[in-house]
Amino acid sequence: MSERLGLDQLEMRGNFIQRHIGPDREQAQAMLAALGLERLEDLIDKVVPADILNREPLKLTETISERAVIKYLRRMRERNQVLTSMIGMGYYDTILPSVIKRNVLENPGWYTAYTPYQAEVSQGRLEALLNFQQMIIDLTGMELANASLLDEATAVAEAMTMSRRLAKSSSNLVVVDRDCHPQTIAVVQTRASSLGYRVLVTDPFDALEQHEFFALILQYPGCSGEIHDLTAPIAIAHQKQALATVAADLLSLVLLKPPAALDADIAVGSAQRFGVPMGYGGPHAAYFATRDEFKRSVPGRIIGVSRDVHGQMALRMALQTREQHIRRDKATSNICTSQVLLAVIAGFYAVYHGAAGLRLIAGRVHRYAQILAAGIVESGHQVVSLCYFDTIVVRMPNRAKRIAAQAEEAGINLRVIDADHVGISLDETTTRDHLRALWQVFVSPVADLPDINGLDGRLSECIPEKLLRGDAILRHPVFSLYHSETEMMRYMRRLARRDIALDRSMIPLGSCTMKLNAATEMQAISFYEFNAMHPFVPLYQAQGYQQLFAELEDMLCDLTGFQAFSFQPNAGSQGEYTGLLVIRKFHDINGQSQRTVCLIPASAHGTNPASAALAGLQVVVVACDDHGNVSVDDLRAKLAEHGDRVAALMITYPSTHGVYEQAFRQICELVHQAGGQVYMDGANFNALVGLCRPGAIGADVMHLNLHKTFCIPHGGGGPGVGPIGVREHLAPFLPDHPVVEGVNPLKGEHGTVGTVSAAPWGSASILTISWAYIAMMGAAGLKRATLTALLNANYVARRLAPHYPILYTDANGWVAHECIIDCHEFKKTANVSVEDIAKRLIDYGFHAPTVAFPVADTLMIEPTESENQAEIDRFCDAMIAIRHEIREIEAGRAAIDNNLLHNAPHTHRLLLQQWNLPYSRQQALFPDSHQHDDKYWPPVGRIDNVYGDRHVFCSCPLDWTEADSGAV
Ligand SMILES: *Cc1c(COP(=O)(O)O)cnc(C)c1O
Repeated sequence: MSERLGLDQLEMRGNFIQRHIGPDREQAQAMLAALGLERLEDLIDKVVPADILNREPLKLTETISERAVIKYLRRMRERNQVLTSMIGMGYYDTILPSVIKRNVLENPGWYTAYTPYQAEVSQGRLEALLNFQQMIIDLTGMELANASLLDEATAVAEAMTMSRRLAKSSSNLVVVDRDCHPQTIAVVQTRASSLGYRVLVTDPFDALEQHEFFALILQYPGCSGEIHDLTAPIAIAHQKQALATVAADLLSLVLLKPPAALDADIAVGSAQRFGVPMGYGGPHAAYFATRDEFKRSVPGRIIGVSRDVHGQMALRMALQTREQHIRRDKATSNICTSQVLLAVIAGFYAVYHGAAGLRLIAGRVHRYAQILAAGIVESGHQVVSLCYFDTIVVRMPNRAKRIAAQAEEAGINLRVIDADHVGISLDETTTRDHLRALWQVFVSPVADLPDINGLDGRLSECIPEKLLRGDAILRHPVFSLYHSETEMMRYMRRLARRDIALDRSMIPLGSCTMKLNAATEMQAISFYEFNAMHPFVPLYQAQGYQQLFAELEDMLCDLTGFQAFSFQPNAGSQGEYTGLLVIRKFHDINGQSQRTVCLIPASAHGTNPASAALAGLQVVVVACDDHGNVSVDDLRAKLAEHGDRVAALMITYPSTHGVYEQAFRQICELVHQAGGQVYMDGANFNALVGLCRPGAIGADVMHLNLHKTFCIPHGGGGPGVGPIGVREHLAPFLPDHPVVEGVNPLKGEHGTVGTVSAAPWGSASILTISWAYIAMMGAAGLKRATLTALLNANYVARRLAPHYPILYTDANGWVAHECIIDCHEFKKTANVSVEDIAKRLIDYGFHAPTVAFPVADTLMIEPTESENQAEIDRFCDAMIAIRHEIREIEAGRAAIDNNLLHNAPHTHRLLLQQWNLPYSRQQALFPDSHQHDDKYWPPVGRIDNVYGDRHVFCSCPLDWTEADSGAV
């Protein structure tokens, strides 16, 4: 590492470690003393099982300073050569308005927020997501939209599985338009094959009647740019009792008749070109819209309107979507982390431009495409596209490659479709100069270039009248109020300040690792050479990215003990699914395809069984013992029972109970003896970094959540990255890609598991964040971070133990990096639920810990290494004060149905009414002195979830009365 980094400019070496880790030396000493320890290293002996410890030195010995990291990444970005992209295929250049870039993408108030489970402290991002849903509803014409999925290709795959659940057809065939994006077809094929569906890729206008099928998937406009009237194939799908999905380009829908008007059942697509940079593949938000009658089957989260206890309008996640994977192997989808930050940006893009602005942008793109085509025709070439929005295909017999090379010399990437055809896709950034440059490429050097203004006057509309849209879009006031930058800036700030994110206080969410997302780590995502790159450019243009992947892979292999990583999965859930496919493939080529049982401990996160079901595996639950560990006896019994049908064990380590099991190695050995493979859920890797290499102690595959352990911010519920690491025998099967070669360089004769995301390296642009974190911390810094995370968690456990029972500890009373406090007694003694405690914490200015996972009636607290003693004490003080408030109820001194917890959170509105609560304003609103300096005012009181689920309303209400009249 040191050579590669050229470490000559290390003027501030080591500083960052102290910036990242909260407690300074004195605080760490004090906290250690409270635990009866002397040195941080003592935690290793006390807490971590000796047989999992890594004794080999790591290669990551160097650290570089914040300044040096930026310099280094600048050099890396220079190796990315950004050309004008006209490749299309689902990725288009776009202009992210500066006001949104500065106030959202680069604002920790937005990017450090958590998924909006605690709706009262999330009203800002919930409103932004509701705007996104409204925009999708308007553009697609559908009745209902969700608040984002991971990418267009996986959204199509989700549409396919939803079609299987809802379609009456008993066929197992999926018909896919051959003019779909190739990455979409590949992802559908992967997903279909693990579920046992057949896929037919064909021309939907040719003999569709001959087939029985349950899902029809169409692209609108097609990948070639051609726009077809899809009414006829959709009608056939309906005759066949199948559901029809239209993957539609959002910008084209500004002009085109929406999918709903074609009678589509599901509309999906990417919101990338609404202001989100291409980023060499991601992250971007996909959208998913459907009919109201299907609302209970929709994958991902839906934001809906409800009301709070005061009758005030309030937003929250609707229906089952709050915790979809809670249904485990019966779940509709395994999606957990999605793409909230990117959906927020796309929604704001529509808010800022409004209907007229979008019409201008879409209209210009279309006009330029027509002018370009006319000029190419004038110069004697054949444009084969008949009806198009922004993409044309030019026929160049045997010359496609040569033309593309010439265009490249002129600074433009075209799509080479085959030897005879090139595709050209225009976008918001296209100018007249680009058109002239292209003509120069197509026109013979001596001929005159066409005259743009002359052509402009002679164009006739190529989209038939019946496919042009006639209805108004974006009529809701939010899309017309904020078109000046001043108003826009204030609107975004108004929303941000309604929320609690990490820029306000600690967010002690167990299993989610809400640690520092340092400003330096975030810088490279704003570098043009990282974010303006199309994912399908030739590799020689993307050498900076290739270097980033290689270096990050080396770093992660070093830390985990695995031999190879795939960055393709866009979240932990996708990593799980991919890892299980890799395991299935391994068994298949070893003649063991009967191995279809996946053992999963009862304590596992809901995504584990949901992913196993998606991978076509049968879930068998392994019990946990009284200490929360996997029951080795039950594991033996299940292995004996299922014998050579066992494919894998999925195990989370340390467990979701926040404890290092002693038997991890033994468990892995038992599974291996039975011929199974070990999948490790690495969401809790923050307790292991620098101490333990899972690949060396028994795990065969593991996903990491880079948005947990490796500092990619949560973004309010995404983006995430869920790369998987594998041991050598599994590396050949890691995903590849239909468009870009060399994604899995170890691919062998048996092929790979296929493609699991639209982009070859998933959400490539945010990998710079994790790279920067590891580069600045080095092995020593990372180990120190891990030990501090253990210190902080054990300190919390020690402080709270006299007040709340700690549910699980190891034999000596230690926890790992998080702890679970048991609150179930309070229901009996004081009629207080964990929910009440969570909401009361808001009055103290805190976001609640994880509620009711992995055990009902508990709170799981993970302070992470980034919080210092003062902040942790402030949180513990609040928890202890709340315990005291519960005691007041238990003792009968506070009313059982009218008390500080029951009525929490308390809002400013209470101050405007006659005060008739049986406690003081100060107790309610200023429970400790911290609120005097900096009071967080929740914008709404306790939200009524049941009301919202009975009166489902998931678009922007004009006012409260309209939301009410939308009741069903
Ligand atoms: C967060 C988490 C997951 C799911 O990861 P996503 O990135 O949200 O898909 C799986 N398992 C555990 C234990 C987790 O904490």
